[in-house]
This record gives sequence, C-alpha cells and structure tokens, in this order.
Amino acid sequence: MPRPAPLQDHVLRLLQDHDPRPLTGLGLAAMLRAEGHAAPASLVFRAIRRLIDRGLVRKIHVASAYAPVGDSCAIILWCRACGEVTEIESADGFARLRRAAAGLADARYIVELAGRCSRCAAL
Ligand SMILES: [Zn+2]
Repeated sequence: MPRPAPLQDHVLRLLQDHDPRPLTGLGLAAMLRAEGHAAPASLVFRAIRRLIDRGLVRKIHVASAYAPVGDSCAIILWCRACGEVTEIESADGFARLRRAAAGLADARYIVELAGRCSRCAAL
C-alpha cells in the first residue's frame, strides 16, 4: 500500500495530466488501480483532502470532481458535454463578492457555472 505522500503525488499528477477535465474520486481510484497502485477509495479521498488543504487541488462542485487549482479569483465554467473546465478571471466580480461578504469571517468564494462550451453547443 503506498504511503500518503506518494499517493498524493500520484493523485496530483493524474489531475494535472487530465487538466482541464476534472476527475472524480472514484475515477482517480480506478486510474490508480490500472497503474498498479491499488489504494482503497478511502485513502484516495484522504489524499485528495490533503491536496485541497495544501491549496493544490480544488473540488469543482458542479462536476462533482477535482482539478488542480488555477486562479483562485476565477469563475469556473464547466461543460456538461465534454467535461472541460475553463477559468474566467474576474477580479472585479470577486472584489464585489468580498464587499458583499464584509463581516463574514473566513469567507470562501465558489463561483461555478455548468453548461455547454461553444464547441459542444455547435455540434
Ligand atoms: Zn464541451
């Protein structure tokens, strides 16, 4: 059984290799098994949690999946058809959110939109 740190490295590499398409926890576990790293799903989810805590990975809520962290002040666009994530920088939008959240300690911003990207919408 791999130790936690190497497992985190494997998980992060898989997420980076598949960027801009986020991967689910169970999908990651299956990919690790296919590579010969038979880690139980509980350890894979723990590795994902540690990567999130380290600021290297984030959950894409609309996709119920995980991706490497890009710009923390970006709107996430997720294509339901092809699964691709696009980040739209929005400093003004996030500045407005910070003002709206004044008085809320430790505020976290998650702005995600699900739809079909221009390529998939054209099909
Ligand atoms: Zn698409």
